[in-house]
Amino acid sequence: MKTIKKYIIATLGSHSSLQILKGAKDEGFKTLLIVKKDRVDFYKTFPFIDEFIEIDSYKDFPKIEEILIKRNVILIPHGSFVAYLGFEKNKAMKVLYYGNKSVLDFEEHRLKQRKWLEEANINMPKLFTNINTIDYPVIVKSYGAAGGKGYFYARNKTDYKNKIKQMKSKQFIIQEYVIGVPLYVHYFYSNITNKLEIMSIDKRYETNVDSLGRIPLTSQQGLTIEPSYVVVGNSTLVLREAMLSQAYDMGLRTIEASKKLIDKKGLYGPFCLETVISPEQEFFVIEISCRIVAGTNLFTHGSAYSWLYYDEPMSTGRRIAREIKIAIQKDKLKSILG
Ligand code: ATP
Repeated sequence: MKTIKKYIIATLGSHSSLQILKGAKDEGFKTLLIVKKDRVDFYKTFPFIDEFIEIDSYKDFPKIEEILIKRNVILIPHGSFVAYLGFEKNKAMKVLYYGNKSVLDFEEHRLKQRKWLEEANINMPKLFTNINTIDYPVIVKSYGAAGGKGYFYARNKTDYKNKIKQMKSKQFIIQEYVIGVPLYVHYFYSNITNKLEIMSIDKRYETNVDSLGRIPLTSQQGLTIEPSYVVVGNSTLVLREAMLSQAYDMGLRTIEASKKLIDKKGLYGPFCLETVISPEQEFFVIEISCRIVAGTNLFTHGSAYSWLYYDEPMSTGRRIAREIKIAIQKDKLKSILG
């Protein structure tokens, strides 16, 4: 059996890096954090990070890539990778990189993403291309937004026409607004065992949309308050068990469609279907994230679901490290690298 000793698991110091490196350490890997100078003291307080590479800015990442390659580093991408390094730089990386980079194209492009989810027979909010057909509330989403920033809600066509004048971004989509519970399902798909797992589920807390209900309608009347969707944090939630198999099947169909549409390898590893559940208990998928999402940080010690699969604490970060370990031991590392 091949040994994991010569490999180091590394990531960038933000988003879910603590969970990833704790998981890697628990699986027996050496760990390394690439971190901005002003954050290093904070990260040094954690005992499971063996080494640090300090950089002045995320833009300096390519300068250290050669060192990472020489040291057999396996890099685990998280939400900050595309946000800070950019889409093209991620694709151009030569260092061992966990995950299928071809998926990035489909994730980045809203319409390609929609085609993928349609292929998977996933229910999504209606998309409006002609503003004259707006006949119920919509949410307008700029491209490349992070955490709901810059979105706006419009109750009808007239409201839309007034608010669009203020929108800075020229690239956006207009989507049916689904009134329901935003629920994010965190999956892990192993392309070694071909098994899909639901690792955990979270609900986001967004300001001010989640706080508006704290002020009675009578006190809101006359004030010009617009709902906004900026994420502040995440909280845990378990889904009614009757709906769990539906969530699981959506995940399976997403994987199958990716193999047809993207490439033979398709999507594997951690991913998240971001949904809103209507009062009719229908899932509407608003987005897919094709890597570890920040909501999994709630579950560094595992979740109600991961406990059913594993008789030990299993975070998504640790699950990634476990997969890499199995791949190395079975001499299948290539099949999980992008
Ligand atoms: P992230 O990249 O962090 O996932 P994002 O900027 O891509 O965030 P979305 O996840 O698309 O943003 O949406 C942000 C929030 O906006 C959601 O959590 C939800 O509250 C609200 N939202 C988005 N689309 C809809 C919709 N169609 N109906 C109702 N609410 C929506």
